[in-house]
Amino acid sequence: MSLVDIKEKILAAEKKHNRAVGGTTLIAVSKVQPLERVEIALKEGHRIFGENRVQEAQSKWPLFKEQYDNVELHLIGPLQTNKTRVAMEIADSIHTVDRHKLARSLARLTQELGKCPKLFVQVNTGDEEQKSGISPNEAENFVKECLSMDLPVKGLMCIPPINEEASLHFALLKKISENCGLAQLSMGMSDDFEKAISFGATHIRVGSAIFGERLKSPE
Ligand SMILES: *Cc1c(COP(=O)(O)O)cnc(C)c1O
Repeated sequence: MSLVDIKEKILAAEKKHNRAVGGTTLIAVSKVQPLERVEIALKEGHRIFGENRVQEAQSKWPLFKEQYDNVELHLIGPLQTNKTRVAMEIADSIHTVDRHKLARSLARLTQELGKCPKLFVQVNTGDEEQKSGISPNEAENFVKECLSMDLPVKGLMCIPPINEEASLHFALLKKISENCGLAQLSMGMSDDFEKAISFGATHIRVGSAIFGERLKSPE
């Protein structure tokens, strides 16, 4: 699918589900994609991209940001504490605040750097052992803790379990966000972004539907 097709689908879903038209932010997930494909999207005017590894993001986005105006980079993958500083230097948003230690690291570096990307707290809505994210019943307290450290937490993010109905997880994330008083929801990927929009997504993370299947990571 082309970017234009995806954008049309987003508009149609917004209209169908009575969401603000144009209110959904499309994050084009460019991880592991050949640079030519990413450049095509940039030349078509798209400016909002997502990466899930700091090192990979660092290898391409500072350069693209020099070449193209107003590029916005979202980090959407698990963040190791020792990469917090680099992440904060290169990203405009971080979607994966998922533990106390990382929150403290972000708060400390905010003082030092004098700035912090926009943050989302990742919630492990399926309480999956192998997945990062704060457990649903701890999310509200964790968000409060982050806000008390003056971290700019704007919303919540989730990745539903592979073999479960995503709707249940989107609905749960929405409910938790309301309890927390947070307005933004990062949820929905290539296969379910329209559904996510129907449940209130403000940020959708779409990779393969835009760029094609990912080639295997060289790492
Ligand atoms: C890779 C990735 C996506 C995009 O996945 P697609 O199925 O290619 O759309 C979205 N969110 C996260 C966290 C990812 O790692």
